[in-house]
This record gives sequence, structure tokens and C-alpha cells, in this order.
Amino acid sequence: MNTITPPPAFLDPARALACIHCGLCLSSCPTYLETGNENDSPRGRIYLMRALQDGRVALGDTVAHHIDQCLGCRACEAVCPSGVQYGELLEHTREHLEQHFSRSLWQRFLRRWVIEKVFPFPERMELALLPAWLIKGWRLEGLLPQFAREALSLLPAAPAPGRLPEFCPAAEPARARVGFVSGCVMTVLFGPTNEASVRLLNRAGCDVFTPVGQGCCGALYAHSGQLEQARACARHNIAVFERLQLDTIVINAAGCGSTLKEYGALLREDPEWADRARAFSSRVRDLTEVLVAAAPPSASLRSGDPAGARVTYHDACHLAHPQRITKPPRDLVRARAGTNFVELPESDVCCGSAGSYNLTEPAMAARLQRRKIENILKTGAKVVVTTNPGCLLQIRAGLRQAGAMDVEAVHIADYLDRVSG
Ligand code: SF4
Ligand code: SF4
Repeated sequence: MNTITPPPAFLDPARALACIHCGLCLSSCPTYLETGNENDSPRGRIYLMRALQDGRVALGDTVAHHIDQCLGCRACEAVCPSGVQYGELLEHTREHLEQHFSRSLWQRFLRRWVIEKVFPFPERMELALLPAWLIKGWRLEGLLPQFAREALSLLPAAPAPGRLPEFCPAAEPARARVGFVSGCVMTVLFGPTNEASVRLLNRAGCDVFTPVGQGCCGALYAHSGQLEQARACARHNIAVFERLQLDTIVINAAGCGSTLKEYGALLREDPEWADRARAFSSRVRDLTEVLVAAAPPSASLRSGDPAGARVTYHDACHLAHPQRITKPPRDLVRARAGTNFVELPESDVCCGSAGSYNLTEPAMAARLQRRKIENILKTGAKVVVTTNPGCLLQIRAGLRQAGAMDVEAVHIADYLDRVSG
């Protein structure tokens, strides 16, 4: 029998052993739903992680493939009866992979340069996207290789940047001091959505502060196994927002929100920052949580406008699973759409965006995108509301590819601002 020298321990043994192999998570896992392969399931991946740690399996292409195929959507975590903290196991395994596994030149370029050196910096992203807008504007996509065409198809027709003022006062006497996290992708591609979010907060009685010095939340680093860089982002943001003495810190991007709420866990081994990180995370709220708390939507459903469009809601993974927020956004949308609201089948199954997954794992991302679009089209909805920029880009691209030009995907802030404005 071949023996493998066990690698340095990268998993907390107690956390890794919490999985009792019951399999209750399998039917929630998007990649398992698609492939039916146990190695693409949460249980199988945890088995691989443990085998890697114990030296029972070597770190090679096969193991890396099954770990890379994981969306990090954490649907498994939300249904696990043993409380397995899958997200943390995944991040630590990915950190181990990034340190010990040699990737192809293309994957290294994508991960080390595009995802880590461009996406977290709005100014760099704006510059890097200039050629993409020109190619799209001149309709030159056909000249590009397939992978570049696929990446380009995710981008909207035009940039929509926006820088918020540092202070936007409440529309009525202020009831709360709120800090707003403007986000990297949101700042470059969804500026008007950020403005709509701040208007909604102002109408809800919040003085909104958007500090210029804030930076990337660190989600892209954490999800790709660059935990030290994620910690550096966390320390930076904690220091920037602490100065403002805020009641609440609000975010309108589900993926960033779950990372901000987990700064406490990310920095728990750091004696200087652990308490400050916990205090910061305890103040973070998704936009929908704040809006529902300020004005709880009526439980009785008004009748929908007979001429109005059907509206549905897609659960962004990082809002539904790690944050367990499914009711507030639904209540907000249902209160406006009335009986025109229709539930989306498999609403909480990932659309394939998953941060930068649709760039690094385009084949599986495309399968999940098609699955999502088929479900959307089944509802007959003309408006799909969601809470994360990645989901919006992925769903819009999928709708365009399906020729469903009469169906729009909108951020919940834009939807609420539009129907109540
Ligand atoms: S992760 Fe949880 S639900 Fe899945 S097999 Fe392990 S114990 Fe069961
Ligand atoms: S995080 Fe998502 S894709 Fe990964 S194992 Fe869990 S359910 Fe499956």
C-alpha cells in the first residue's frame, strides 16, 4: 500500500469530525444535484478534506477538482443537523490548496491577478473593464476565444459606476446612525443600486455614512483560500467604521454581508482584534433586515395589479444559507407585488455565480445558470428580484442567452425604490 506523508494540519479536527455522514445535506447541494457524484457532495468533500489531512489521499488534480467545484454556497450548512461549519472547513482546505497545489497558468492568472488584484479595487476594475466595454460596444465578441466570450457575456451592456456622498441625512428626524458598505462590484457596476439603497435607508429614518476609506470586505480572498488577505481587509474596515460610532452597518450585497458578519470568526485567533471584530460583526445587517425592522410589511396580501407583471424572488446563497435571511426580502417584495408574487422553484439553489466561480468553473456555472433560468421561465414572472450583484449578472446573462428579453432581473433596492418612489 502506498503511504503519503500527512500534510501540516489545516483543519480543526473537532470541526472536521462533526460530520456524521448522515447524507441529509446531499439533496441541498447544487453540484450533487447536477452530477450525482458523491465526491461533488458536501459529505464526499468533507471525506476528501479529512483524507487529505490524514495523508490517506494525495493532493492532485482529482481532489483539487472536487474542492474547486464546490460553490461555497453553504446550502449544506443550513440543513446539517450536526451543525457542521462547512464554510470554515472549505476556506481552510482552500488555503491549503493555494499553498500546496500547482495550478495551470490560466487558473493562476485568473485567481492571482484578475480576482485578487483587480476585483477588490473599484478603480482598477473600472480601468480593466474599459477594453471589455469597447469590445461590447463595437460588437467584436465574435473575435474572442470561447472563455473570453463567456466571461464577457456576464457584463451588462454599459458600466453604471457611482460614488456615494460621505453623508446622506435621514428624510425625517434621524432614528439611527448607519454606515453603508458600498462594495467593490456594486460601486463599479451597480452605482444606481447603491444610491437607491441609501434613499430607502434615508426614508426609513437613517442618517447614512459611507466612509471613503472603506475597502473590499475580503469575501473574494476568503472564498479563494487567501485567508491572511481576508483578515487584512477585515482589520482595515473595522478601523474605518469604528471611527464613526455607528448603530448599524448596512450592506446590500449578500456575499459581502456574510463575510462582514463573520469577521469575528475570521479574527478570533488575533488577540488585538478579536473583540473589535466581534463588535463590528454584531452591528452588520443586510439592507432588507433594516427595512423590515423600520417598517414591518403588512401580513395581509393586497391584490396584485391585474395589468401588473408577475414577480418572483431568487434567494442569493449567502443571504439564505449563512445568514438564514429568507423571510424579510420576501415580505418586502410580496408587500409590493401582492398576489402577483409567485414563488420560484428551487429558489435557494445557487445560480452558478458564487463570487468568482463563474470565471474559474465556467462549465458547472453554466449548468446551474441554465437550471435557474428554466425555473424562472416556468413561473411566468417578468421580474426576478434578488439581493446580490453576482446573481444579477449571472441571471441577466442567462436570460439574454435564453432569448427571454421580456424578463428583467433587478436588485431588491431598485425594485423597492421604484415601486415606492
Ligand atoms: S455535513 Fe451534516 S448533513 Fe452532511 S453528511 Fe455531514 S453531518 Fe450529515
Ligand atoms: S457549499 Fe454548496 S456546493 Fe459546496 S458542498 Fe455545500 S451545498 Fe454543495
